[in-house]
Amino acid sequence: MSLPVHATLAGTQSGPATDPALDAWRQLSAKQQPSWQGSPEHARAVAELGTLPPLVFAGEVDVLKSRLAAAARGEAFLLQGGDCAETFEAATADRIQSRVKTILQMAVVLTYGAQMPVIKMGRMAGQFAKPRSSDSETRGDVTLPAFRGDIVNGYEFTPESRVHNPARMVQAYHTSASTLNLIRAFTQGGFADLRLVHSWNQGFMSNPAYHEYEQLAGEIDRAVHFMEACGADFEALKRAEFYASHEALLLDYERALTRTDSRTGTPYDTSGHFLWIGERTRELDGAHVDFLSKVRNPIGVKLGPTTTGQDALDLINKLDPDREPGRLTFITRMGASKIREALPPIVQAVRDSGAQVVWVTDPMHGNTVTSQNGYKTRRFEDVMDEVRGFFDVHRAMGTVPGGLHVEMTGDDVAECLGGADPIREEQFDELYESVCDPRLNHAQSLEMAFLVAEHLAHR
Ligand code: PEP
Ligand code: MN
Repeated sequence: MSLPVHATLAGTQSGPATDPALDAWRQLSAKQQPSWQGSPEHARAVAELGTLPPLVFAGEVDVLKSRLAAAARGEAFLLQGGDCAETFEAATADRIQSRVKTILQMAVVLTYGAQMPVIKMGRMAGQFAKPRSSDSETRGDVTLPAFRGDIVNGYEFTPESRVHNPARMVQAYHTSASTLNLIRAFTQGGFADLRLVHSWNQGFMSNPAYHEYEQLAGEIDRAVHFMEACGADFEALKRAEFYASHEALLLDYERALTRTDSRTGTPYDTSGHFLWIGERTRELDGAHVDFLSKVRNPIGVKLGPTTTGQDALDLINKLDPDREPGRLTFITRMGASKIREALPPIVQAVRDSGAQVVWVTDPMHGNTVTSQNGYKTRRFEDVMDEVRGFFDVHRAMGTVPGGLHVEMTGDDVAECLGGADPIREEQFDELYESVCDPRLNHAQSLEMAFLVAEHLAHR
């Protein structure tokens, strides 16, 4: 990350063992928590996390907040992407590299379309905890605890693997640390070079299935050559800021990594730069909203189709009482068939209140269906229809479409249906890898970037 020098030195001393404000959530109802409270292993894991170094620095988090403030004003665009659920096993150099590469490729296309900076953020280096609609899973005549993400239990369908094991929190920390280390190395060490990323995009365009995007790809190519001819400083374009984000679901983990910033004496959750609250845990009086109201990071909240304008205003008052620029992001996930009715009243209430948030579309979580052969999937056309609805609503209301939140991977998996070079459900048996929700594969992700770029160019 390129940061002001003082920021790298700031912040992140360990916090006090207990703090009345930071621990108020413990008295509130916390949904989706593991059943390991009270065990000696749990106490040991939490104590260990409390002694480990922070994963991010408060100064970096502040820089991100200022970038998000620009997105709220329509002067930047957020691209947030990665796995539904990261796994320990898949935290390999190749997998991390292909995801970072795909996000960088998407970002170049979006930057050209938007003609403004794109904030690059992974659902990476900490996206290990999953909310579930059921506590258990039944296969045949066997019922076991549901998989809740590698930070809680294992995906393998055996009693041993599905036990909630608090030592996994420590492993999640170390896996996040090594993932973030590699991301920092790539994005600071030359892998984010604009000319390199552009050459990858040209490789993608060599597939005739994408001829629809040739004009835009050609324009980007000419723009890069124009910059070259003008003697642009490509050295300066070798590095990229890249931020880490995850759903702040497991409050023990988030609390243990919350530290006092030595510059300001205020608490930052140092498990990631940006944390979001999921659709299932966003009750106003619940533990998640309370805890995240106490830390200084930029915060996201997922909003599903049952959200009212008043819900949105209540969340703003609780999470952003000072109306701090860049503090709050609303990530709407309505479903393609609902967004055009469900989003306007929420946007209107927020707009009329004078509050400013970053409006981000998550076109994945409202569009999950089951394929005929029994896989959880999403159709590319539904996903794109929700994106179109998002842009249409904001254009009609005079508000700012500030970002895109997607479940994607850099690998050639088959999990979502369709796209110009279509994925078919017969490919699922061989190429479906996700342990949770279906992700766009490498090519579908890039195709989406081209389509969103067109919307950004014409908004
Ligand atoms: C997710 O982002 O993986 C998720 C569970 O989303 P939501 O809270 O919007 O359902
Ligand atoms: Mn998901």
